[in-house]
Amino acid sequence: MTATRLGTPGADGPGAAGADSGGTGAVGGRSSSVPADGVWADVVGQEAAVSQFRRAASPEGSLAQAWLVTGPPGSGRSTAARAFAATLQCEQASGCGRCRACRTTLAGTHPDVTVVATDKLSIAKEEVRALVMTAQRSPATGRHRVVIVEDADRMTAGTFNVLLKSIEEPPPSTVWMLCAPSAEDLAPTIRSRCRLVTLSVPSSAVVAELLQRRDGVDEDLAVRAARAAQGHIGLALRYATQQGALAAREESARTLLSLRGAGQAVLAAQALVDRATAEAKEHADLVAVEEKQRFLRSAGIEDGKVPPSLRSQVRQLEEDAKRRQTRLVRDVLDRYLLDAHSVLRDVLSRQLGTGSELVNIDVAPEIERTAAQVSGQITLGLLEAVQGARERISGNVPPLLAIEALLARIAVSLR
Ligand SMILES: [Zn+2]
Repeated sequence: MTATRLGTPGADGPGAAGADSGGTGAVGGRSSSVPADGVWADVVGQEAAVSQFRRAASPEGSLAQAWLVTGPPGSGRSTAARAFAATLQCEQASGCGRCRACRTTLAGTHPDVTVVATDKLSIAKEEVRALVMTAQRSPATGRHRVVIVEDADRMTAGTFNVLLKSIEEPPPSTVWMLCAPSAEDLAPTIRSRCRLVTLSVPSSAVVAELLQRRDGVDEDLAVRAARAAQGHIGLALRYATQQGALAAREESARTLLSLRGAGQAVLAAQALVDRATAEAKEHADLVAVEEKQRFLRSAGIEDGKVPPSLRSQVRQLEEDAKRRQTRLVRDVLDRYLLDAHSVLRDVLSRQLGTGSELVNIDVAPEIERTAAQVSGQITLGLLEAVQGARERISGNVPPLLAIEALLARIAVSLR
């Protein structure tokens, strides 16, 4: 087994703002011509991190056995972790991108590289135990055994203890790579034993360039998608490749700036939550069906009839899917709120005359108009209100309540 999928993260599900789907390349796959930087070609806008990894992997470098790769969602944490794993396995010891070890590592089929990705709210203790067992084994073909945990922040407190011993004293050829939004997301006992690599938000210019080179997106669309995604690589890819995604985003921005009165705000909030729920459900259903099919296939069941002995496992899968959907709704809403934040920030930048590029170029007229209508003080207050709503939703306030309150405030302020 080379890739453990706890749940099935699409390379870019609707929860893209929450999950780190940066740059795992969902569309079209890798082009056949390998760029000069080998396995690092798709790790864009992260020069400092890349040189840190390269130094560590070089014969003169000191190779830490536990790494913590942090960075905002979509910055490419897992892409960077995979590139590092490929460099460690590379037959040329350089991350050439051409040898079998490099290619299989990037494709997720190298026998000594295990990648754990999850759509679930948390990674269970048993799953981490299995990983620790894997980490104990010596590599089958490569120089190292590499275990990558894409969402290490989803390990529960109890799980950290299971992991701790293996991270403290791993077998000599094992390398752990934990990925998380920030170092604070992991227990201090774990993070103090890891070497930290911090990724930054890639500029929209480098993201646009990546979409053109890697995914064959045309220039104009790549630029608009990258700008709208604000440095989130997976989201940019989604905007560039999913029909109507950019248009829906623009429409939301217009609605936001045209809200007048509490009645409209209540309706708009309901519509937003409905849309997030539908989007999350569509994705979660798809994943649930795939998961169930895979499970039945692995149990040798062809006709879809679940024998009594397996029913509880199937029920467990279905419960997992439900939990996943709950989180996805919140992730999708968070993405909407980040969009709203970017619109208001555009308004503020016009009010302050900073001269910086608008994120939402397609709604520039509405942004200009709003900027002239209200004061910068009001816009600042609204930006804080958006952050407040994000915090409330992540703190388990019912999303509809939080969104209603926010939109009502915006509607009153813009009146
Ligand atoms: Zn290679």
